[in-house]
Amino acid sequence: MDIHEYQAKELLANFGVPVPKGGIAYNPEQAVYRATEIGGTRFAVKAQIHSGARGKAGGIKLCESEDAVRDAAADLLGMTLVTHQTGPEGKVVHRLYIEEAVPIEREMYIGFVLDRKSERIMLVAHPHGGMEIEEIAVSEPETIIRQTMEPAVGMQAFQAREIAFALDLPPAAVNRMVNLLMGCHRAFRELDATMVEINPLVLTSDGQLLALDAKMAFDDNALFRRPNVSELRDQNEEDPRESQAAEHGLNYVALDGEIGCIINGAGLAMATMDMIEHAGGTPANFLDVGGGASPERVAMAFKLVLQDQKVSAMLVNIFAGINRCDWIAEGVVQAVKEVGVNVPLVVRLAGTNVDEGRAIIDASGLDIITADSLADAAHKVVAASKNGKVA
Ligand code: GDP
Ligand code: MN
Repeated sequence: MDIHEYQAKELLANFGVPVPKGGIAYNPEQAVYRATEIGGTRFAVKAQIHSGARGKAGGIKLCESEDAVRDAAADLLGMTLVTHQTGPEGKVVHRLYIEEAVPIEREMYIGFVLDRKSERIMLVAHPHGGMEIEEIAVSEPETIIRQTMEPAVGMQAFQAREIAFALDLPPAAVNRMVNLLMGCHRAFRELDATMVEINPLVLTSDGQLLALDAKMAFDDNALFRRPNVSELRDQNEEDPRESQAAEHGLNYVALDGEIGCIINGAGLAMATMDMIEHAGGTPANFLDVGGGASPERVAMAFKLVLQDQKVSAMLVNIFAGINRCDWIAEGVVQAVKEVGVNVPLVVRLAGTNVDEGRAIIDASGLDIITADSLADAAHKVVAASKNGKVA
């Protein structure tokens, strides 16, 4: 799960990470009110969407007066920001974060990530952060600083000092940097994060270190034990189908292809997606209906998959172990009648009560294409998607 910049800053501030003064606003009047609260005459008005690279897309405005804050807020709210992380459809701005603008001496980059190769939390840092960090990472990869953490003891102060020296900080800022890095690492561990990124981390002209931007992502499987994190979920930022699926205990991930998939078990789903690709198609989604798939859940799965306009054929692939093929078959028949499937449908059943299951499909009188093996099913659904035969 991702969260907004202002939420990440609030969480990190609780771990001693210094952040600029700021407040959230949902309309221009609130934005002005926040600016008055903050005081001073220079403000940053920042679009809150789940994406980086907002600066380059026009989502960050520096303002020299409260009137300018009002205008910037009016411009940004309701706007669709297209960054190189949002995809071409962009994201609509519903919230703004109003901050004191700070005088920047230097912009740096730090990011804590999960390094799967070393199976450790890794700190990645660079003395020159900001909006060009991706270009720097490509053009001079040797200048990237890396440090991995021993999981049994966590980040050690000497490691943080090494980073501070490698970033070439003035002596007065070294201890501040150590505290900041240790705080980020503690936040990462104690909140079950999968990423903590501060870009830019700035050194101000009066020698302060401040997290000017902050990004955090969390392990979905740990949210049950982090209620203060899970309550930060913003439904506006998520694929509505994914949240709808989660409410019904279905595991749904939207993809770019044209073959809609309903499968039981994540392993079988992965194998099926590979087989579809092998047969020359591309999956439109990953949908695991899980072990005890009731007819209602199968019907819900059909609804979700068919909401996707790109779907030109559907594949139901069930290996029934705990499930029974006859229950699944009943669910499929019920779903097709209830939901109305207007694309070709291929069903492959295997496992417990397979003969009973097939008999139900045959007796339904519906135009369902049946398949025996996984390979057979993949070829049939790809062919059906190409010639558009309707079930
Ligand atoms: P991102 O583009 O989504 O990563 O948004 P950031 O929060 O990182 O802002 C982009 C850029 O705006 C930063 O790299 C800064 O150069 C600039 N910026 C943001 N806040 C301030 C501020 O308070 N003062 C100044 N001078 N620049 C800022
Ligand atoms: Mn940034």
